[in-house]
Amino acid sequence: MDLDLAIVGGGPAGIATALFLAAAAPGRLGRIAVFEKERYPREKICAGAIGARAEKELERIGVRVDVPSVWVNGLSVATSTGSLAARDSRILKPIGRVVRRLEFDRAFADEARSRGVTIVEGARVQRVEIDHDGVWLHGTMGEIRARAVIGADGVGSFVRRAIGAPRGRWRAQVIEVDTPVIEGDRARDLLHFDLSDQALRGYAWDFPTIVEGRALMCRGLYELKRDGEAEGDGIDLGARLTARLARQGIDPAGLRFKRFSERGLALHEPVSRPRALLVGEAAGIDPALGEGIAQAILYGAAAGPYLARCLDRGDLSFRDWPRALRRSRVGLDLLARELATPWVYDRMRPELERWTALSRDLAITGVRYFAGERAGTRNVAGAVIDLGRAFAQRARDAIDARRSSVK
Ligand SMILES: Cc1cc2nc3c(=O)[nH]c(=O)nc-3n(C[C@H](O)[C@H](O)[C@H](O)COP(=O)(O)OP(=O)(O)OC[C@H]3O[C@@H](n4cnc5c(N)ncnc54)[C@H](O)[C@@H]3O)c2cc1C
Repeated sequence: MDLDLAIVGGGPAGIATALFLAAAAPGRLGRIAVFEKERYPREKICAGAIGARAEKELERIGVRVDVPSVWVNGLSVATSTGSLAARDSRILKPIGRVVRRLEFDRAFADEARSRGVTIVEGARVQRVEIDHDGVWLHGTMGEIRARAVIGADGVGSFVRRAIGAPRGRWRAQVIEVDTPVIEGDRARDLLHFDLSDQALRGYAWDFPTIVEGRALMCRGLYELKRDGEAEGDGIDLGARLTARLARQGIDPAGLRFKRFSERGLALHEPVSRPRALLVGEAAGIDPALGEGIAQAILYGAAAGPYLARCLDRGDLSFRDWPRALRRSRVGLDLLARELATPWVYDRMRPELERWTALSRDLAITGVRYFAGERAGTRNVAGAVIDLGRAFAQRARDAIDARRSSVK
């Protein structure tokens, strides 16, 4: 097989890249292919919450992914200082949904196939050789020659290693379990985030989910690793999730705990080299919250037209991909989240907890962002004022604490 582009990985980033490239340059369709090591339906450990902003981007090119979903209208947050839930009545449609990746990824791949994208399943890429006028991919599918390779192969990315990029500054360990619904659960149209466990450099979540027609809750923990910490270092997430389930009155016996890691984007790390380019979690997704499905789709929305232009120009050096990425919607989103991450979990955690539990305007801004709606000026202004309040309250608390220790 002799191709223009070989896309390694048939998750949301790989399929979205193929779809947006096909939309930008339909004439290239016969010259690109996606190589996926598994066969659909294949499991991807993931809670499956997708913001409507990504699906709106897909709708732009006429793509809809029809699978069983729990539709979401709002967000809820709990911290050590309080809790709140927010919906925005100005948004008339759901702000997102929760899907099962087993179903979503297969339907997404089917949608791409129906538009003429070649997807080769059971094709595990095991070696990538890049030379001055193309790449060789070697693997279970045999040998493939292409003009360039796109690494959409997720957190363990083989292509990332082939371009000599490090494993990544922002790594997270994540654990999840599907359980029955309990009495204390939030309404089923809310995604719930719990930041109250301060030992966790991350958060716990409870998302409504639907598994083979049964209404369940997906509960999990996200923990960001510190620089240089290896996976497995730090706190025991399994024990911590078991303890949280016990507090919720859920017996963990017989439940299947699923673990996986994530990589956040660090914009100083390489995301391309001549004839190779990374998208999705192979490049890096949101380090602050570990949100990656919408980002993977938006990577595709940025990379598809970019690749079409590169092919038209006959320039596959991808020298300007880091700049194009930084200027794209997903790049700006990830840049902001990367800059915020150290403040969120280290320097500003107490203020952040106070702010998120206090500020309805912040929550509404988050709801609108997730949905892909323009942020309301009044909400943004309100959120900034509330941030000031959170700082002031913290300063007052510190003064009171000092006074009482002097007494
Ligand atoms: C426990 C957990 C919960 C999460 N919950 C959420 C959530 O609720 N919402 C959200 O937005 N994000 C969530 N994420 C993150 C999200 O799952 C990922 O960021 C997202 O799947 C990234 O998409 P991708 O296409 O880049 O990579 P992936 O979805 O990982 O797809 C990569 C594909 O490449 C294939 N592949 C890998 N190696 C090779 C190879 N050598 N040859 C060929 N194919 C290969 C894989 O089989 C896979 O299909 C969660 C992650 C975890 C671990």
